[in-house]
Amino acid sequence: MGGVSARLEDLPLRDDLRGMTPYGAPQAPLPIALNVNENTHPVPEDVADDIMDSIALALREVNRYPDREFTALREGFADYLGHGLTRDQIWAANGSNEVLQHVLQAFAGPGRTAFGFGPTYSMYPLLTRATGASWVAGTRAADYTIDAEDAASQIAAVDPDVIFLCSPNNPTGTPLGLDVIEAAYEASTGVVVVDEAYHEFAPHEERSALTLLPGRERLIVSRTMSKAFAFAGARVGYLAADPAVVDALRLVRLPYHLSALTQAAASAALRHAPAMLRMVDDIAAQRDRIIATTAALGYTPHDSWTNFVLFGGVDDPAITWQRLYDRGVLIRDVGIAHHLRVTAGTEEETTAFLDALASVGSDA
Ligand SMILES: *Cc1c(COP(=O)(O)O)cnc(C)c1O
Repeated sequence: MGGVSARLEDLPLRDDLRGMTPYGAPQAPLPIALNVNENTHPVPEDVADDIMDSIALALREVNRYPDREFTALREGFADYLGHGLTRDQIWAANGSNEVLQHVLQAFAGPGRTAFGFGPTYSMYPLLTRATGASWVAGTRAADYTIDAEDAASQIAAVDPDVIFLCSPNNPTGTPLGLDVIEAAYEASTGVVVVDEAYHEFAPHEERSALTLLPGRERLIVSRTMSKAFAFAGARVGYLAADPAVVDALRLVRLPYHLSALTQAAASAALRHAPAMLRMVDDIAAQRDRIIATTAALGYTPHDSWTNFVLFGGVDDPAITWQRLYDRGVLIRDVGIAHHLRVTAGTEEETTAFLDALASVGSDA
């Protein structure tokens, strides 16, 4: 095709998409990539072999459409989550981003509203607006916590159709009490989504929002294989909710949305859940080391129950980000004044980040 390419403004784009910017965490081939909260430990060799065998088997029938109901995979997730969940309460898609998109397509859309307490996961507003709904951001305390009473009054004032509670919160790492989830549910008539993308990194004795599901048909708990499970490249996210919620999601998904290869890979990985999750405690230890060392360097790290740390006290985040980049270390400027976010990597990667940060100093 010849000629000059058109500009976005020249196209008959939907009016409500004009002026929007796509999700754009930089993808740069740097030696130390700690910017998008992946598990930086590779899948163990023996597990990778078994996943490969499962994919090879699925490939022999790839001339046929896959199981539209991904039955075996839903059973795998129900077993993994426990809490007496059964497969009719489970949904999955290509990353929890697609799971959240399904939720918004079913429960938000034109004329409706989705809500979250900012700063929170940057994809919520993008996914919301792409369904034609509007996004309303609530507020948090200065340390990014939310208490039950404040949450309930903010939600009651907006009366949203979909509420996102990120637990623990990205990009701040902040834990969220179950009492806040209960209060948010009571204060609303909409669907309440608790995004537990990082739950596996929380202290092991902490209860999941899954324990709140019985008797709450508007409550949804979403998870992902992208973080603790070291499976970001496979694109698999899932949720647990009332079977009626799952039926609602069937109305909006594309038929056969989970490929046979994805289903085979994810089911095989779930069979090896303990091995896939083996590095979680090690990663949490590196996270705590980042908190201690950044504090010793004079920064102000925030409490985190995730695999990343948000630290404040950065004079000019863009300059510090660039100096780290020049030293081969990629972290994230999440747009919060005087803050940067870094993912806990392997011990070596974490050391490389901390050494680089010490060498750049906090002065611009
Ligand atoms: C990373 C992340 C997700 C998951 O994304 P996937 O699409 O499953 O890779 C969901 N929610 C939050 C808060 C995240 O940080």
